[in-house]
Amino acid sequence: MGGINIFKLKFFFPSMEKFFWADKIAEDIIKQKGRKKEFVCASGITPSGTVHIGNFREVITTDLVVRALKSKGRKAKFIYSWDDFDRFRKVPENLPEKKKKEWENYIGMPVSEVPSPYDDKKSYAEHFEQEFEKSLADVGIKPNFIRQSQRNKKCFYAPLIKKALDERKKIIKILDKYRKEPLEKDWMPIEVYCEKCRKDSTKILKVEGYVIGYECECGFKNEFDFRKKGIVKLKWRIDWPSRWFYEKVDFEPGGNDHSVHGGSFMTGKEISKEIYDYDAPMYVMYDFVNIKGAEGKMSKSKGNVVTLKDVEEIYEPEIIRYLFVGTRPNKGFEISFDNDVIKIYEDYDELERKYFEKEANGQEKRIYELSVLKVPKKKPERISFRHLTTLIQTGKTEKLGKYGKQRAEKAKNWIEKYATDDFKFELKEKVETKLTENQKEAMISLKEILKTKKINEDDLLNEFYNISNASGISVKEFFETAYVIIIGKRKGPRLANLIFAIGKDKVIKLLEQIK
Ligand SMILES: [Zn+2]
Repeated sequence: MGGINIFKLKFFFPSMEKFFWADKIAEDIIKQKGRKKEFVCASGITPSGTVHIGNFREVITTDLVVRALKSKGRKAKFIYSWDDFDRFRKVPENLPEKKKKEWENYIGMPVSEVPSPYDDKKSYAEHFEQEFEKSLADVGIKPNFIRQSQRNKKCFYAPLIKKALDERKKIIKILDKYRKEPLEKDWMPIEVYCEKCRKDSTKILKVEGYVIGYECECGFKNEFDFRKKGIVKLKWRIDWPSRWFYEKVDFEPGGNDHSVHGGSFMTGKEISKEIYDYDAPMYVMYDFVNIKGAEGKMSKSKGNVVTLKDVEEIYEPEIIRYLFVGTRPNKGFEISFDNDVIKIYEDYDELERKYFEKEANGQEKRIYELSVLKVPKKKPERISFRHLTTLIQTGKTEKLGKYGKQRAEKAKNWIEKYATDDFKFELKEKVETKLTENQKEAMISLKEILKTKKINEDDLLNEFYNISNASGISVKEFFETAYVIIIGKRKGPRLANLIFAIGKDKVIKLLEQIK
């Protein structure tokens, strides 16, 4: 599989297709969910570690559907659920050994109550939540965040828990349809966190109305009213549909793992209807995001996970959005960190040009509108990413405008972290190589040409061919000689562009050393 390119986009979105995918989903939501005053679109995750770019796909899918609903003149809100009342399951692999041992003691506690192992005085959950929330804001996504630990602790869900306990047998029946081994007779749809040790290593001894009696492995034993004490949590397969009902969710995407036959969406749909009398939200499955060209380049301390922040170092916010907007959620695609980055920037600039010059078709128009944070009044003055990689290495970045500066920062990061050697160079101050007579002649001709006041980049490119002809060396030899003199290597960025980026005078000075 190659990188993302225009060919692929065209393949996914033939111009005959009437709808852009997010618009089509919005249309379906309106059809299925009727004339609601405000539509509710949801997504969420357990903050159990660094949130990776694959999870971002869920968030942006929801964001795009919300924007599509709004462009149809509907009210829509985006709620994002941090499932931080879930248990701490696993200590991150990449912690130092000493911390690993210490954090093992927290397994079984809600992630919101485990301390952060990263010396930042936050909880484990907060550490990852805040990191991701900041990156989301950078790409223009600002949902209403809900911290489920707070809601659970305040007993918001007591009526939903009561309902699940009352209908326990019905729930077992639904879940058993898809299980090889039926659930135990005393199976409960809830977990209880021990008041003393805060872990979920508890056994439920009795349920009477709103009173639950439990005993913990730590030896603690108690009875409590779950309308007054928020230490109960519904198990995932019931928790999810109960919140669809509670929030009146109309749309939510889910990963492949939730989407299989008998998976949590399928059972959730039945539980939602049978137990809470609520029609499940419209659902789309989203596929994986693969990463290309970042192998071994991601920080080991984060466990080699690619985050939204990593992508933001290389891509501008609108281009990140563009990558996701341009592919239907149910198709896998790649985010490239290798030389494809240049092509992706070019494709985006071309789309923007078409948009402002009114050459974009319906699909392209929508892809552009949903990629930008806000449609600019006039076409932004972009500088090509490729050219910027040269400019930043020649130090010529003082005259970049607002758009140029933002992009230059990304180009700098790319050069430092991911670019292959042929994109990297350092300017030479001295001519350090021995030249043949023919090569000397060619370089002296080049110097004379550069002294011509009016020459532009295109003319200069033509001159390269004339010079090599006249000096009896091949074009290849000409380029190699020039590169070796200017940047000390046989290959480099486009030569004419490089010379102009460095400044003609500087190159002339260098070439004057050739006698
Ligand atoms: Zn305990």
